Amino acid sequence: MLKFLKQVGDYAKETAQAARYIGQGLSVTFDHMQRRPVTVQYPYEKLIPSERYRGRIHFEFDKCISCEVCVRVCPINLPVVDYEFDRASKKKNLKHYSIDFGVCIFCANCIEYCPTNCLSATEEYEMSTYDRHELNYDNVAMGRLPYKVTQDPMVTPLRELAYLPKGVTDPHDLPPGSRRAGLRPEEIVEQMEPTEAEKEEETAKNA
Ligand code: SF4
Ligand code: SF4
Repeated sequence: MLKFLKQVGDYAKETAQAARYIGQGLSVTFDHMQRRPVTVQYPYEKLIPSERYRGRIHFEFDKCISCEVCVRVCPINLPVVDYEFDRASKKKNLKHYSIDFGVCIFCANCIEYCPTNCLSATEEYEMSTYDRHELNYDNVAMGRLPYKVTQDPMVTPLRELAYLPKGVTDPHDLPPGSRRAGLRPEEIVEQMEPTEAEKEEETAKNA
């Protein structure tokens, strides 16, 4: 008898637990039913990549001095710097430069360490091809500037999360002047500038 009662008790406990879990799951469902969808209708709508997005690398041929620093700092020694050494001028003449973006991990080490700043990260992220060998970009392909989402007349640019005001997750129908969460780099620099009173105090101290 006791065993039977214990079984009934366990069964009732498990039923109550299952009902609680179903309730928890449904509460999430009902909560989402109140919200607007945040779907981006790609390719008619596209998100504006954030300021420090590391997309396809841009290369400026004329600035490159063939030092191969980019190759040494790359975790997979990826950039190919093809140059000829000119004995008369004792300089390296760059002939070709290429990076295979099918292998690149977009860590931006090469960009960070290039002494002449001839490499830079663009906001281009649409690089899909049917043949992976087409991702091996030469200096001509890398010299092309990307098409900006905001300048494409065929596309509705949407602000991504970094640009949305605090608490907003839906980039649709946002008034153009709405402030984004967080500060822009130039606003941070502006905040760091000393105020007039601080400047006067500093001058008085130095006098
Ligand atoms: S580090 Fe910069 S300058 Fe040097 S080879 Fe690479 S791209 Fe050219
Ligand atoms: S981004 Fe990183 S992986 Fe790609 S070429 Fe530069 S250093 Fe190499």
